[in-house]
Amino acid sequence: MSQTISTAPRPVLIDRYGRQINYVRLSITDRCDLRCVYCLSEGMTFLPRNQLLTLEEIARLGRCFSELGVTTLRITGGEPLVRRNAIWLFEQLGQLSAIHDLTLTTNGTQLSRYARSLKDAGVSRVNISLDSLRPERFRRITRIGDLDRTLAGIAAAVRTGFQRVKLNSVILKHRNHDEIIDLTRFAIEQGIDISFIEEMPLGTVSGHDRVDAYYPSDAIRHDLAQTFELLPTTEMTGGPSRYVRIAGTDTRIGFISPHSHNFCSNCNRVRVTAAGRLLLCLGQEHGVDLRRALRANPTDDERVRQTIVTAMELKPPGHEFALSSQPGLIRHMNMTGG
Ligand code: SAM
Repeated sequence: MSQTISTAPRPVLIDRYGRQINYVRLSITDRCDLRCVYCLSEGMTFLPRNQLLTLEEIARLGRCFSELGVTTLRITGGEPLVRRNAIWLFEQLGQLSAIHDLTLTTNGTQLSRYARSLKDAGVSRVNISLDSLRPERFRRITRIGDLDRTLAGIAAAVRTGFQRVKLNSVILKHRNHDEIIDLTRFAIEQGIDISFIEEMPLGTVSGHDRVDAYYPSDAIRHDLAQTFELLPTTEMTGGPSRYVRIAGTDTRIGFISPHSHNFCSNCNRVRVTAAGRLLLCLGQEHGVDLRRALRANPTDDERVRQTIVTAMELKPPGHEFALSSQPGLIRHMNMTGG
Protein backbone atom coordinates (compact mmCIF):
# COMPACT_ATOMS: atom_id res chain seq x y z
CA MET A 1 0.00 0.00 0.00
CA SER A 2 1.50 3.34 -0.93
CA GLN A 3 1.34 6.16 1.60
CA THR A 4 0.04 9.59 0.64
CA ILE A 5 2.04 12.08 2.60
CA SER A 6 -0.42 14.95 2.53
CA THR A 7 -3.51 13.12 3.81
CA ALA A 8 -2.43 9.96 5.61
CA PRO A 9 -1.32 10.00 9.23
CA ARG A 10 2.34 10.81 9.46
CA PRO A 11 4.27 7.74 8.25
CA VAL A 12 7.15 6.41 10.27
CA LEU A 13 10.12 4.22 9.56
CA ILE A 14 10.00 0.96 11.48
CA ASP A 15 12.31 -1.97 10.93
CA ARG A 16 11.64 -5.71 11.25
CA TYR A 17 12.60 -5.64 14.92
CA GLY A 18 10.14 -2.89 15.79
CA ARG A 19 12.80 -0.18 16.11
CA GLN A 20 11.63 3.24 14.96
CA ILE A 21 14.16 5.17 12.91
CA ASN A 22 14.00 8.88 13.65
CA TYR A 23 17.66 9.82 13.35
CA VAL A 24 19.72 10.04 10.14
CA ARG A 25 23.40 10.79 9.72
CA LEU A 26 24.18 12.34 6.38
CA SER A 27 27.79 12.30 5.25
CA ILE A 28 28.33 15.17 2.84
CA THR A 29 31.90 14.42 1.84
CA ASP A 30 34.48 11.67 2.32
CA ARG A 31 37.26 14.28 2.26
CA CYS A 32 38.88 15.58 5.39
CA ASP A 33 41.54 18.12 6.31
CA LEU A 34 42.89 15.75 8.99
CA ARG A 35 44.11 12.15 8.67
CA CYS A 36 43.32 10.58 12.05
CA VAL A 37 45.22 7.32 12.39
CA TYR A 38 42.19 5.24 13.42
CA CYS A 39 39.95 6.72 10.71
CA LEU A 40 41.88 7.01 7.45
CA SER A 41 44.67 4.98 5.96
CA GLU A 42 47.74 6.81 4.77
CA GLY A 43 47.54 7.77 1.09
CA MET A 44 43.76 7.45 1.11
CA THR A 45 42.08 8.28 -2.20
CA PHE A 46 38.77 10.08 -2.26
CA LEU A 47 35.69 9.76 -4.43
CA PRO A 48 35.51 11.71 -7.69
CA ARG A 49 33.01 14.54 -7.55
CA ASN A 50 30.48 12.91 -9.91
CA GLN A 51 30.02 10.05 -7.47
CA LEU A 52 29.05 12.35 -4.63
CA LEU A 53 25.49 13.44 -4.03
CA THR A 54 25.10 17.09 -4.91
CA LEU A 55 24.10 19.41 -2.08
CA GLU A 56 20.69 19.75 -3.72
CA GLU A 57 20.27 15.97 -3.66
CA ILE A 58 21.27 15.84 0.00
CA ALA A 59 18.75 18.58 0.81
CA ARG A 60 16.10 16.60 -1.04
CA LEU A 61 16.95 13.47 0.90
CA GLY A 62 16.76 15.41 4.16
CA ARG A 63 13.27 16.52 3.19
CA CYS A 64 12.21 12.96 2.28
CA PHE A 65 13.47 11.62 5.60
CA SER A 66 11.72 14.40 7.51
CA GLU A 67 8.48 13.43 5.80
CA LEU A 68 8.99 9.89 7.07
CA GLY A 69 9.10 10.82 10.74
CA VAL A 70 12.80 11.55 11.06
CA THR A 71 13.33 14.37 13.57
CA THR A 72 17.12 14.47 13.93
CA LEU A 73 19.64 15.00 11.15
CA ARG A 74 23.35 14.89 11.88
CA ILE A 75 25.68 16.19 9.19
CA THR A 76 29.04 14.49 9.13
CA GLY A 77 31.78 13.24 6.81
CA GLY A 78 34.78 13.23 6.20
CA GLU A 79 34.94 16.78 7.43
CA PRO A 80 31.60 18.31 6.47
CA LEU A 81 32.79 21.90 6.71
CA VAL A 82 35.39 21.42 3.95
CA ARG A 83 32.62 20.82 1.42
CA ARG A 84 32.11 23.99 -0.60
CA ASN A 85 28.79 25.72 0.13
CA ALA A 86 28.08 23.43 3.07
CA ILE A 87 26.36 26.33 4.85
CA TRP A 88 23.78 26.50 2.08
CA LEU A 89 22.84 22.91 2.87
CA PHE A 90 22.48 23.67 6.59
CA GLU A 91 20.22 26.58 5.68
CA GLN A 92 17.99 24.31 3.61
CA LEU A 93 17.80 21.59 6.25
CA GLY A 94 17.23 24.19 8.96
CA GLN A 95 13.96 25.14 7.29
CA LEU A 96 12.43 21.66 7.57
CA SER A 97 9.78 22.08 10.24
CA ALA A 98 9.74 18.37 11.18
CA ILE A 99 13.44 18.41 12.01
CA HIS A 100 13.75 19.30 15.69
CA ASP A 101 17.43 18.68 15.95
CA LEU A 102 19.88 19.66 13.22
CA THR A 103 23.33 18.67 14.38
CA LEU A 104 26.90 18.52 13.17
CA THR A 105 29.96 16.36 13.79
CA THR A 106 33.18 18.18 12.96
CA ASN A 107 36.87 18.22 13.77
CA GLY A 108 36.55 21.91 14.59
CA THR A 109 39.15 23.24 12.16
CA GLN A 110 36.63 25.43 10.32
CA LEU A 111 34.44 26.45 13.23
CA SER A 112 36.10 29.81 13.87
CA ARG A 113 34.84 30.77 10.45
CA TYR A 114 31.46 29.03 10.36
CA ALA A 115 30.07 28.68 13.90
CA ARG A 116 27.84 31.77 13.67
CA SER A 117 26.43 30.84 10.24
CA LEU A 118 25.72 27.32 11.46
CA LYS A 119 23.81 28.63 14.46
CA ASP A 120 21.90 31.06 12.27
CA ALA A 121 21.01 28.19 9.91
CA GLY A 122 19.42 26.32 12.81
CA VAL A 123 22.13 23.94 14.02
CA SER A 124 21.34 23.06 17.63
CA ARG A 125 24.16 20.80 18.73
CA VAL A 126 27.76 20.37 17.66
CA ASN A 127 30.08 17.44 18.37
CA ILE A 128 33.77 18.23 18.02
CA SER A 129 36.46 15.57 17.86
CA LEU A 130 39.43 16.09 20.16
CA ASP A 131 41.74 13.24 21.14
CA SER A 132 44.61 15.13 22.75
CA LEU A 133 45.46 18.46 24.33
CA ARG A 134 49.17 18.07 23.64
CA PRO A 135 50.17 19.72 20.35
CA GLU A 136 52.71 17.11 19.25
CA ARG A 137 50.50 14.22 20.15
CA PHE A 138 47.53 15.87 18.48
CA ARG A 139 49.64 16.16 15.36
CA ARG A 140 50.68 12.49 15.56
CA ILE A 141 47.11 11.24 15.96
CA THR A 142 45.70 13.48 13.23
CA ARG A 143 48.91 13.18 11.15
CA ILE A 144 48.63 16.80 10.00
CA GLY A 145 46.50 18.69 12.52
CA ASP A 146 47.22 21.91 14.39
CA LEU A 147 45.83 21.75 17.93
CA ASP A 148 45.49 25.52 18.25
CA ARG A 149 43.19 25.64 15.27
CA THR A 150 40.88 23.01 16.71
CA LEU A 151 40.93 24.70 20.14
CA ALA A 152 40.00 28.00 18.49
CA GLY A 153 37.12 26.20 16.79
CA ILE A 154 35.93 24.79 20.10
CA ALA A 155 36.11 28.26 21.67
CA ALA A 156 34.10 29.69 18.78
CA ALA A 157 31.43 27.01 19.21
CA VAL A 158 31.19 27.67 22.95
CA ARG A 159 30.94 31.45 22.38
CA THR A 160 28.26 31.01 19.77
CA GLY A 161 25.95 29.39 22.28
CA PHE A 162 24.70 26.22 20.65
CA GLN A 163 22.21 24.26 22.75
CA ARG A 164 24.91 21.73 23.38
CA VAL A 165 28.57 21.29 22.46
CA LYS A 166 30.19 17.94 23.05
CA LEU A 167 33.71 16.65 22.57
CA ASN A 168 34.28 13.20 21.07
CA SER A 169 37.50 11.46 22.08
CA VAL A 170 38.55 8.12 20.65
CA ILE A 171 40.73 6.57 23.34
CA LEU A 172 43.62 4.33 22.33
CA LYS A 173 45.81 2.57 24.85
CA HIS A 174 49.35 3.99 24.92
CA ARG A 175 48.36 6.74 22.48
CA ASN A 176 46.13 8.95 24.59
CA HIS A 177 44.56 6.93 27.41
CA ASP A 178 46.65 8.94 29.89
CA GLU A 179 44.75 12.10 28.87
CA ILE A 180 41.29 11.00 29.96
CA ILE A 181 41.40 13.18 33.07
CA ASP A 182 42.87 16.22 31.26
CA LEU A 183 40.32 16.00 28.46
CA THR A 184 37.52 15.78 31.01
CA ARG A 185 38.89 18.76 32.97
CA PHE A 186 39.00 20.72 29.74
CA ALA A 187 35.35 19.86 29.02
CA ILE A 188 34.37 20.95 32.52
CA GLU A 189 36.23 24.28 32.12
CA GLN A 190 34.40 24.91 28.86
CA GLY A 191 31.05 23.90 30.39
CA ILE A 192 30.52 21.25 27.70
CA ASP A 193 30.06 17.48 27.51
CA ILE A 194 32.49 14.80 26.44
CA SER A 195 32.08 11.28 25.06
CA PHE A 196 34.77 8.64 25.11
CA ILE A 197 34.65 6.24 22.19
CA GLU A 198 36.10 2.76 21.82
CA GLU A 199 37.83 2.38 18.47
CA MET A 200 35.71 0.56 15.91
CA PRO A 201 37.18 -1.86 13.35
CA LEU A 202 36.38 0.12 10.22
CA GLY A 203 38.91 -0.06 7.40
CA THR A 204 42.56 -1.01 7.58
CA VAL A 205 44.78 1.19 9.74
CA SER A 206 48.54 1.33 9.71
CA GLY A 207 50.61 2.39 12.68
CA HIS A 208 48.74 0.59 15.46
CA ASP A 209 47.18 -2.75 16.18
CA ARG A 210 43.54 -2.42 17.14
CA VAL A 211 43.68 -5.23 19.68
CA ASP A 212 46.70 -3.72 21.43
CA ALA A 213 45.13 -0.26 21.34
CA TYR A 214 41.82 -1.36 22.83
CA TYR A 215 40.97 0.62 25.95
CA PRO A 216 37.50 -0.37 27.17
CA SER A 217 34.92 2.07 28.45
CA ASP A 218 34.94 0.38 31.86
CA ALA A 219 38.65 1.18 32.21
CA ILE A 220 37.94 4.82 31.27
CA ARG A 221 35.17 4.98 33.81
CA HIS A 222 37.44 3.49 36.44
CA ASP A 223 40.14 6.08 35.67
CA LEU A 224 37.61 8.91 35.90
CA ALA A 225 36.23 7.69 39.21
CA GLN A 226 39.69 8.16 40.79
CA THR A 227 39.41 11.91 40.24
CA PHE A 228 35.74 12.83 39.83
CA GLU A 229 32.55 11.95 41.58
CA LEU A 230 30.46 10.30 38.86
CA LEU A 231 26.72 10.46 39.30
CA PRO A 232 24.58 7.89 37.55
CA THR A 233 21.97 9.26 35.22
CA THR A 234 19.23 7.57 33.27
CA GLU A 235 19.57 10.18 30.51
CA MET A 236 19.55 8.63 27.08
CA THR A 237 19.65 10.40 23.75
CA GLY A 238 18.33 7.37 21.87
CA GLY A 239 21.89 6.92 20.68
CA PRO A 240 24.73 4.62 21.63
CA SER A 241 26.08 6.77 24.48
CA ARG A 242 25.57 5.83 28.11
CA TYR A 243 26.02 8.83 30.35
CA VAL A 244 27.19 9.85 33.81
CA ARG A 245 27.25 13.33 35.30
CA ILE A 246 30.19 14.84 37.11
CA ALA A 247 29.15 16.09 40.53
CA GLY A 248 29.26 19.87 40.90
CA THR A 249 29.53 20.53 37.16
CA ASP A 250 27.28 20.84 34.11
CA THR A 251 29.33 18.26 32.27
CA ARG A 252 28.00 14.88 31.18
CA ILE A 253 30.36 12.12 30.19
CA GLY A 254 29.22 9.68 27.52
CA PHE A 255 30.64 6.26 26.79
CA ILE A 256 30.30 4.82 23.31
CA SER A 257 31.24 1.20 23.66
CA PRO A 258 30.77 -0.81 20.48
CA HIS A 259 32.84 -3.66 21.88
CA SER A 260 32.06 -3.77 25.56
CA HIS A 261 28.39 -2.73 25.58
CA ASN A 262 26.54 -3.51 22.42
CA PHE A 263 24.09 -0.68 21.73
CA CYS A 264 22.07 -2.15 18.90
CA SER A 265 18.78 -3.17 20.50
CA ASN A 266 17.62 0.45 20.78
CA CYS A 267 19.21 1.64 17.54
CA ASN A 268 17.12 4.46 16.10
CA ARG A 269 19.37 5.53 13.25
CA VAL A 270 20.58 4.97 9.73
CA ARG A 271 23.33 6.61 7.70
CA VAL A 272 23.74 7.92 4.19
CA THR A 273 27.24 7.97 2.72
CA ALA A 274 28.54 10.87 0.67
CA ALA A 275 27.90 8.74 -2.43
CA GLY A 276 24.27 8.29 -1.44
CA ARG A 277 24.34 4.77 -0.11
CA LEU A 278 21.81 4.27 2.66
CA LEU A 279 23.54 2.14 5.30
CA LEU A 280 21.22 0.46 7.73
CA CYS A 281 23.96 -0.32 10.25
CA LEU A 282 27.34 1.22 11.04
CA GLY A 283 28.96 -2.18 11.33
CA GLN A 284 27.35 -4.10 8.47
CA GLU A 285 27.17 -3.67 4.72
CA HIS A 286 23.36 -3.83 4.35
CA GLY A 287 22.48 -0.88 2.18
CA VAL A 288 20.53 0.65 -0.68
CA ASP A 289 21.61 3.01 -3.45
CA LEU A 290 19.67 6.23 -2.86
CA ARG A 291 21.70 8.13 -5.44
CA ARG A 292 20.18 5.92 -8.10
CA ALA A 293 16.68 6.40 -6.63
CA LEU A 294 17.16 10.19 -6.58
CA ARG A 295 18.52 10.42 -10.11
CA ALA A 296 15.95 8.00 -11.58
CA ASN A 297 13.10 10.02 -10.04
CA PRO A 298 14.19 13.64 -10.28
CA THR A 299 10.76 15.05 -9.48
CA ASP A 300 9.05 12.18 -7.70
CA ASP A 301 9.80 12.28 -3.97
CA GLU A 302 7.24 9.57 -3.28
CA ARG A 303 9.40 7.00 -5.12
CA VAL A 304 12.41 8.05 -3.09
CA ARG A 305 10.45 7.79 0.15
CA GLN A 306 9.19 4.34 -0.88
CA THR A 307 12.78 3.21 -1.48
CA ILE A 308 13.68 4.36 2.02
CA VAL A 309 10.65 2.68 3.60
CA THR A 310 11.40 -0.61 1.85
CA ALA A 311 15.07 -0.45 2.87
CA MET A 312 14.10 -0.68 6.53
CA GLU A 313 13.52 -4.40 5.93
CA LEU A 314 17.28 -4.72 5.55
CA LYS A 315 18.26 -3.28 8.91
CA PRO A 316 20.11 -6.07 10.72
CA PRO A 317 19.64 -6.77 14.44
CA GLY A 318 23.14 -5.61 15.34
CA HIS A 319 26.66 -4.75 14.26
CA GLU A 320 28.66 -7.80 15.46
CA PHE A 321 31.90 -5.84 15.77
CA ALA A 322 34.68 -8.19 16.82
CA LEU A 323 37.87 -7.10 18.53
CA SER A 324 40.46 -8.10 15.97
CA SER A 325 43.59 -6.80 14.32
CA GLN A 326 41.83 -7.28 11.01
CA PRO A 327 39.22 -4.74 9.93
CA GLY A 328 35.63 -5.83 10.47
CA LEU A 329 34.65 -3.87 7.39
CA ILE A 330 36.61 -2.57 4.43
CA ARG A 331 35.10 0.89 4.53
CA HIS A 332 36.74 3.55 6.68
CA MET A 333 34.77 5.85 8.95
CA ASN A 334 35.21 8.78 6.55
CA MET A 335 33.29 6.75 3.95
CA THR A 336 30.63 5.68 6.37
CA GLY A 337 30.03 9.04 7.95
CA GLY A 338 31.01 8.90 11.62
N1 SAM B 1 35.49 15.04 10.58
C1 SAM B 1 34.47 15.01 11.58
C2 SAM B 1 35.05 14.74 12.94
O1 SAM B 1 36.27 14.63 13.05
O2 SAM B 1 34.29 14.68 13.90
C3 SAM B 1 33.34 14.08 11.29
C4 SAM B 1 33.63 12.71 10.77
S1 SAM B 1 34.53 11.66 11.87
C5 SAM B 1 34.60 10.18 10.90
C6 SAM B 1 33.32 11.36 13.12
C7 SAM B 1 33.79 10.69 14.38
O3 SAM B 1 34.15 9.36 14.11
C8 SAM B 1 34.98 11.35 15.03
O4 SAM B 1 34.70 11.62 16.38
C9 SAM B 1 36.05 10.30 14.92
O5 SAM B 1 36.93 10.37 15.99
C10 SAM B 1 35.25 9.03 14.93
N2 SAM B 1 35.93 7.88 14.35
C11 SAM B 1 36.55 7.78 13.16
N3 SAM B 1 37.04 6.53 12.97
C12 SAM B 1 36.71 5.82 14.06
C13 SAM B 1 36.93 4.48 14.47
N4 SAM B 1 37.58 3.60 13.70
N5 SAM B 1 36.44 4.10 15.67
C14 SAM B 1 35.76 4.98 16.46
N6 SAM B 1 35.53 6.26 16.13
C15 SAM B 1 36.00 6.67 14.95
